[in-house]
Amino acid sequence: MRKISLTVLLVVIILLSGSLIVFNFGSLGKEDNWFNKNYRLKLAQYPILRYVIGLHYDGDGRSDYLGSRFDKIVVEIDSLEGITPNTQALEDLVSRIKDVTGKETNYLISNSDIPAFEFDSEEVGSFIDRLRVHSSSSGAASVYVLYAGVNKDEPTLLGQTFKEYGIIVYSQALDNFVSQNPATKKLYESSTILHEFGHQLGLGHNDKANCLMNESAEYNHKARFRAEGVIMDFCPLELQQIRFIKNSL
Ligand SMILES: [Zn+2]
Repeated sequence: MRKISLTVLLVVIILLSGSLIVFNFGSLGKEDNWFNKNYRLKLAQYPILRYVIGLHYDGDGRSDYLGSRFDKIVVEIDSLEGITPNTQALEDLVSRIKDVTGKETNYLISNSDIPAFEFDSEEVGSFIDRLRVHSSSSGAASVYVLYAGVNKDEPTLLGQTFKEYGIIVYSQALDNFVSQNPATKKLYESSTILHEFGHQLGLGHNDKANCLMNESAEYNHKARFRAEGVIMDFCPLELQQIRFIKNSL
């Protein structure tokens, strides 16, 4: 009898491990493969399954922010030594995240004395995994924002996402971007982080001139120096896309 139970247990473990491996391969494959088309969105709603299967592309955490699992959002802010996040930019940011998700949103400064160093997109990953304190749990979904200097591979990059919860904003690249009008930095700071949050909600890029998810928002090659030229919020098309994502959860 004991032998049969052990055999059954072994078969279950083998089947479970096999499914996880198959899911993991599926999740890393093409966007329209069988797994990503049929199962990714459903399974990604559970933080534990994201961890086990390895669903860590931007947008995989969209249900944390738009679904009903959490009723609050906490934005954890870390910054490298010598970089001071702008309080007004952070206030604007949390107020817009609140508007778009309908959830109470607060930010907290976690580490502000991380020794400064330059890194590329890959190195920043292991760095964030070590620094992040809050994760989506106990009633609050978590967004992680790291204020860094510059991406050494792409010095004009203003911001990027990391996994399904992280946002990196390159403060030194922003300084270079607004060098002709430094007073606009706080606006671009908030705008860049909100653009990256848009990716975490599952939005891709578009080519509409007045939309936040326009690709040029991420790079400084199309500089706009007038404050009124900064796109501070999602455009009606993007708000419609967010509503669609929310309804599909
Ligand atoms: Zn982008």
